[in-house]
Amino acid sequence: MKHRNFKTVPKMIFGRGSFDQLDDVLDAERTNDSDFVVFLVDEIHKDKPLAKCLGNQPQDQVIWLNIDDEPKTTYVDALTEQVQAFAKQNNNGKDPVSVVGIGGGSSLDIGKAVALLLTNEGGSASYQGWDLIKKPAVHHIGIPTISGTGAEASRTTVLTGPERKLGMNSDYTVFDQIIMDPGLVTGVNKDQWFYTGMDCYIHNVEALNGTYINEFARAFGEKSLELCNQVFLEDHPDADEKLMMASYMGGQSIAYSQVGACHALSYGLSYVLGFHHGIGNCIVFDVLEDFYPEGVEIFRKMVKKHNIKIPQNVCANLTDEQMDKMIQVSSGMAPLWDNVYGPDWQQKVTPELLKSLFKRM
Ligand code: NAD
Ligand code: ZN
Repeated sequence: MKHRNFKTVPKMIFGRGSFDQLDDVLDAERTNDSDFVVFLVDEIHKDKPLAKCLGNQPQDQVIWLNIDDEPKTTYVDALTEQVQAFAKQNNNGKDPVSVVGIGGGSSLDIGKAVALLLTNEGGSASYQGWDLIKKPAVHHIGIPTISGTGAEASRTTVLTGPERKLGMNSDYTVFDQIIMDPGLVTGVNKDQWFYTGMDCYIHNVEALNGTYINEFARAFGEKSLELCNQVFLEDHPDADEKLMMASYMGGQSIAYSQVGACHALSYGLSYVLGFHHGIGNCIVFDVLEDFYPEGVEIFRKMVKKHNIKIPQNVCANLTDEQMDKMIQVSSGMAPLWDNVYGPDWQQKVTPELLKSLFKRM
């Protein structure tokens, strides 16, 4: 058996107020006056304090991201062209010295993807998969403003393409720098805070209960789970710090293990019904007590404590085609099911099983 040789983010800053240090980080990348930086920022921040302290210079390009839909390959390609057109007009076609993604998992993933596509030609759909990227990306920085996905730590950028929802997984995808400033999550609405936070909680439950578990993944997963429990079951003044750290550690845990049944089903659900990742996971996890009895019991306590309404009966009116598609997408997540059941997973993951689970959502 070959062990995974995985790349982590080489530089990171953590702490409330650390966003102010973005300037210093960018100064180190700028070597002459015409060098420019691209800021890809969730448009939710456009009229918020963050917009005023981006630290952008007159020669920089700021693009506000629309993330009504989760990132699509077509959107990433259009953004890349927008950056290239800007470079052509203002910098003799020379790439930016850094791409900064600011926002939730969607914006972080867009930041990674654009940085990759600036140096790898042919459109993002052609790189969906594992290790298809051949050239290093432009220097790229991730700054989360909501906690949970672990996208700040991972070697993937999840994109919905013409054929499938699949990441561009590669060592070049990993951010060169992340800045984790818990002060930036102020203003996230409670439901969204919960849904994205539960993504982290579920990463840990799936990793810790999977067949791929090992001491590396367990070390990060257990600590991350402990932090999630503190955040969602107790009351702590530094809950934002805890959840931001939990998100990073949950990302590290699954980087060296794998997610499981909830993510496999949630990919199918979201593909057909368009749910965003966090809420989709919550809808699915709520029916997985046979897979993760303790995890689901505690999840329900968290839902109750925060008075969250998980959407019900979302699969009530599905056509047969939609149900078949959901089953097809979910059962296609081979490594995830392998992590759940081991190598003979195909005997266990039957269309009947998946259908009975979807019908309860
Ligand atoms: P998101 O980026 O889609 O954002 C969710 C909502 O929160 C949006 O409406 C956004 O505008 C809002 N928001 C973000 N920061 C805010 C702030 N400070 N104040 C107010 N509102 C704010 O959500 P997410 O759950 O973080 O990310 C989901 C995406 O991440 C999906 O596309 C999923 O596929 C991807 N993902 C990627 C990885 C990875 O490893 N690359 C892992 C898990 C999920
Ligand atoms: Zn997830």
